Amino acid sequence: MNLRARPTQEMNVPYPISCPECKQDSWASDIVDLITRFSTSDGTLRCPHCGAGGASIYRESALQEKGEQWRRWIKGVIRIDSDAPTYCPYVFLTAQEEGAPVDGLHFNYYKDTRSSGGRLKHGHGPGGAPVLTPRELMRLVERLIRIGVFSTKDVERLALVASGRRDRKQLPSKRRA
Ligand SMILES: [Zn+2]
Repeated sequence: MNLRARPTQEMNVPYPISCPECKQDSWASDIVDLITRFSTSDGTLRCPHCGAGGASIYRESALQEKGEQWRRWIKGVIRIDSDAPTYCPYVFLTAQEEGAPVDGLHFNYYKDTRSSGGRLKHGHGPGGAPVLTPRELMRLVERLIRIGVFSTKDVERLALVASGRRDRKQLPSKRRA
């Protein structure tokens, strides 16, 4: 099956995962299922059929600009360890092409109160975007360094720029290929 060619209604299926190795599709029923069954410890997605990394989820969303779509491949998901018990902020790692490096961080959150009779709910309601404490943001940066979205050099340079010992121009303007 070619996920990219599917009509929009198929995109309502929660998380269709495609594998570039064995070409088989699999499906995560919700965000918790995606994180617990398909995500590797470094946050990238793994194919449950052949075990290969590098699986991805194609998504498209209508933009406010008429006729325009935001198309991206979700290459991974990082759940940010939160200090609040039911609040689970997470970040989708997105790329503009299936084989391209991650160049987008799509912030989201969910709350899962199913174990106490509630439900799994995404944070798209009033208040919208996720809120991170500085400590949670630091944990995310640590994960991003681990998977190579940032290098330790980038972070060292950032500290030097922030303390006024380096020029801001020394920060990378885009991700290295
Ligand atoms: Zn596979």
